[in-house]
Amino acid sequence: MAVAHPGPVDRDLGLDDLIVIAGAGGFIAGALVRHFSDLGFRRIRAVDRKPVGEWYQRVPGVECLCLDLREQANAVRAVEDATEVYNLAADMGGMGFIERFRVECLRSVLINTHLIDAAWQAGARRYFYSSSACAYNTDLQQDADVTALKESDAYPAMAERGYGWEKLISEMFCQEYTAERGFETHIARFHNVYGPFGTWFGGREKAPAAMSRKVLEAVESGDLSIEIWGDGSQTRSFCYIDDCIAGIDAIMHCPKLIATPINLGSSELVSINELVSIVEEIAGVTLDRRYDLDAPKGVAGRNSDNTFIRQVLGWEPSTPLRDGMRVTYDWIASQMADRKAGKRIVEERW
Ligand code: NAD
Repeated sequence: MAVAHPGPVDRDLGLDDLIVIAGAGGFIAGALVRHFSDLGFRRIRAVDRKPVGEWYQRVPGVECLCLDLREQANAVRAVEDATEVYNLAADMGGMGFIERFRVECLRSVLINTHLIDAAWQAGARRYFYSSSACAYNTDLQQDADVTALKESDAYPAMAERGYGWEKLISEMFCQEYTAERGFETHIARFHNVYGPFGTWFGGREKAPAAMSRKVLEAVESGDLSIEIWGDGSQTRSFCYIDDCIAGIDAIMHCPKLIATPINLGSSELVSINELVSIVEEIAGVTLDRRYDLDAPKGVAGRNSDNTFIRQVLGWEPSTPLRDGMRVTYDWIASQMADRKAGKRIVEERW
């Protein structure tokens, strides 16, 4: 599926400059590795703490290192000789994970703390940090009929406990490394990224993958019902992976976006009930909906205000949710078929 890209990106990079991507065994960083490999970059180092056999994507010709980046020595090793460093490593998942494992989420602060310092010490040219919409003030997200969040809405701070505060403090590290030490950093606040090669079962999956899997399971089992967390009225926007990757590349290489957090998300707002309807339509079924009102459901509503990204890049993520969900649904269907056939599938361990 073709997505609209920002204009040409001036990367000021040679094809033999070393690009280091942390979290590369995961969803977004795995796609970023593929992106730079497809562009012809010959020296890419992919780093993750998961054993390489468990990575979602492995790209031929890419150096793969299995390192826990909460350890300083590993962070130093990871960025040796790097020209650019992308930090997408974090202990995270959907609401079910981040509401239950706040300590683990907070401990990701060690990753960024060590990695940014190691990158600066190594003389890297640029550093990218993957922040989140969870960094925004939760008081502004109490109504499903939301006003979209603009970049200034992170302060006064009242971020999501655990995960959101880790993002906010790591953003500040980036900003202060730029202010005090002249290190070029870039920060994007992702809003609910979805697409193929992401987690789709096991407890860390997010709503688009979870709904696709649940609908497929209902069809397969013949029990035409679905469990929804909360009352389904909570609203979100969802950003297709290809838009996210194009945005990361453009943000990292935009001189106007140094140490300046920016939303990277879609502004197509839907309720969880509407998301389920989209998946039902793709599957060609209608299911009985059971609402688990005690399950984790996060804030009532959240959307991305894209005024700033449109102004600075002349672009915003625009893949229609229906189109992205069709690709995601088909991919999860093929994963389920592979699992049934005993083949290797994307897998996540807690
Ligand atoms: P993911 O879980 O698929 O990937 C993260 C990867 O980081 C995993 O492969 C994990 O093994 C690795 N990791 C965790 N701890 C590590 C450590 N100590 N050392 C080395 N590697 C470690 O998640 P993702 O969806 O690809 O998210 C990537 C980044 O984007 C994260 O920083 C996340 O917080 C951020 N983000 C994602 C979303 C989203 O919707 N997916 C939304 C907002 C922000």
